[in-house]
Amino acid sequence: MKILVIANWKMNPQSLTEAKQLFNLVKRGVKNIKKVEVVICPPFVFLSNIQYLTLSIKLGAQDCFWGKEGAYTGEVSPRMLKNLGCQYVIIGHSERRRYFGETDEIINKKLKAVLETKINPILCIGETQEERGQGKTESVLRNQITSDLKGVSALKFSKITIAYEPVWAVGTGNPCSVEEAQKIGLLIRKIISGIYNRALSKNLRILYGGSVNSKNAADYIKEANLQGLLVGGASLVAEEFIKIVESVI
Ligand code: PEP
Repeated sequence: MKILVIANWKMNPQSLTEAKQLFNLVKRGVKNIKKVEVVICPPFVFLSNIQYLTLSIKLGAQDCFWGKEGAYTGEVSPRMLKNLGCQYVIIGHSERRRYFGETDEIINKKLKAVLETKINPILCIGETQEERGQGKTESVLRNQITSDLKGVSALKFSKITIAYEPVWAVGTGNPCSVEEAQKIGLLIRKIISGIYNRALSKNLRILYGGSVNSKNAADYIKEANLQGLLVGGASLVAEEFIKIVESVI
């Protein structure tokens, strides 16, 4: 199973020129690294220009809508993303949950819509600081996973990657400890095994995301036994992101 490193550019940068520049720098830096699957998720508006630059890098999107087509002003369908060459899409990012009111019900609809196409969803889950403080991490993650995957068949599930992104660690400079990330990785496998079966749980790629940088990245892969990373802030600095990719080999 290849290690997966995903760059989530969020609402950055502000121009196509900068986006192409960043993309090309990263592409140059990772072009000889064959052991890591590198995915960049730029904002929607840059996807169509960036799709022609890809080669060593795969293209992903940060979100999509659950409808197939029609009167949904401002939204983007999974098939539009597929037609632009996207191979991955992030679903249920904590910023979508927090700022755009995405519930597990909405996330479940989005996941199912994506699974109708050939795009691979990256499902983000994670507890808030408050939930963690109240000792609710396990029940929050169990609820999110169970609700988000409701009605998703075992066959379709095999296309999903789960990213553990504790909300308190995303964009805060306060990453989750490697020990805790490892424990959560095992918990996620246990939950998936209960919903589906052991084989699917074993083959699942679990990513960690939350204040990853070039100094801590390798530990999540080599010590916490996770299969990849979702990188926000550090993915906007080409040199730092390339170092992250190099460090996980
Ligand atoms: C993210 O956006 O998914 C993320 C993990 O952000 P950061 O790396 O900045 O914490």
